[in-house]
Amino acid sequence: MIYTSTNNTKEKVGFRTAALNGLASERGLYVPVKMPRLKGDVLGRNTFGPEEAAEVMHLFTGADVPLKVLTDILDQTLSFDFPLVKIGKDKYCLELFHGPTKAFKDVGARFMSRTLGYFKAQDDQKSHVLVATSGDTGAAVANGFLNVEGVQVHILFPKGKVSEYQEKQMTTLGGNIQAIEVEGTFDDCQSLVKQAFSDDQLKKEMSLSSANSINVARFLPQMLYYFNASKQLKDMGLENVVYSVPSGNFGNLTAGLYAKIIGLNITKFIASTNKNDTFIKYLSSGDYIPKPSVLTYSNAMDVGAPSNFARILKLYNNDWKTINENIKGLSVSDELTLEIIQEIYSNSDYTIDPHGAVGYQGLTTFQEEGETGIVLGTASPLKFASVIQKVIPDFQTPISDGDTVFKKSIQNNYASLVDVLMS
Ligand SMILES: *Cc1c(COP(=O)(O)O)cnc(C)c1O
Repeated sequence: MIYTSTNNTKEKVGFRTAALNGLASERGLYVPVKMPRLKGDVLGRNTFGPEEAAEVMHLFTGADVPLKVLTDILDQTLSFDFPLVKIGKDKYCLELFHGPTKAFKDVGARFMSRTLGYFKAQDDQKSHVLVATSGDTGAAVANGFLNVEGVQVHILFPKGKVSEYQEKQMTTLGGNIQAIEVEGTFDDCQSLVKQAFSDDQLKKEMSLSSANSINVARFLPQMLYYFNASKQLKDMGLENVVYSVPSGNFGNLTAGLYAKIIGLNITKFIASTNKNDTFIKYLSSGDYIPKPSVLTYSNAMDVGAPSNFARILKLYNNDWKTINENIKGLSVSDELTLEIIQEIYSNSDYTIDPHGAVGYQGLTTFQEEGETGIVLGTASPLKFASVIQKVIPDFQTPISDGDTVFKKSIQNNYASLVDVLMS
């Protein structure tokens, strides 16, 4: 498989280089030069386990990760369940949060960490993974990379703006995981990370990689739960499937589009966002105008410039009309998010997290008669207890224990970041 940059088609690299670099040349994203198609009987088999998952991923890694190694990595990556839970008439939640940090990002982070670990076992230069987080990414990356040889992880998070639960997940591990608390916002953390990636001096000193969904090794395995769900749906005799994907950087949604293009039968996608509606505005107007993010109750989707947009454009040759045919979209307010949490709880005795609630509204709006609606349950409600308690006062969350806190605090300036990275 050959990858190129969305901003520079002259660049051509294999999976290994794409995964180790993270960001492609001229600040583009890595995309396959040509999308593969799934051959053989993978879709016809009765199970979707590590072997089948490895066949899917092998289309994208090529010989850079041998099938046998991939199967082992996927056996560890997919070691928890992805249940489809009925939450309304013809409506299901695909719960992606039964991994160690209770959000879907565990899948990508576990795959990426093991793949990088495999690559790093073949050379002796240490890799530094640098990542900015509003909460869930940091937790999944910290957990996935803990004790991976040859990789040091640095996680930047905005001081006081992640939930207590999320902060514990990032700061209680230690080892090769360094949590860095920044006096600033998520956007500040993100721009510090970007600055590091464009700092040639720093890159001479250390090999840097990113663990956001721009990285192919984190983004591509997110195709797999659509495959897993497809098998479950077949067993349940359900078809004509529409997915509503609560979206921020659009990694999950783009992975779904990839899954469809390589062979999965999916009727349509719904992009559900909170008030950060850059993509939704694009769908209606054809103009893509990034803007600063605004804070909402579904804070893992507070993204004003969705990074995977470039991949979606590439997939459909910049054709706005085709994009509209494949993806519907809507933006949901915080008030409505709370109403939906309350409504699903009263009607179905099911507690959905704020991100899932945004996705549910996508089904309510766009699901048609005869379609099976699935909302991706991107995080456990336990991670967003303070929002849920606004409408379900009895909702309780256990705070994870472990109180040895490993974190550095820095000011919002680049020199402080470099100091910590070099220390
Ligand atoms: C990261 C995240 C999202 C957004 O996913 P993208 O792939 O960035 O669109 C949605 N919900 C939760 C809970 C998340 O952690």
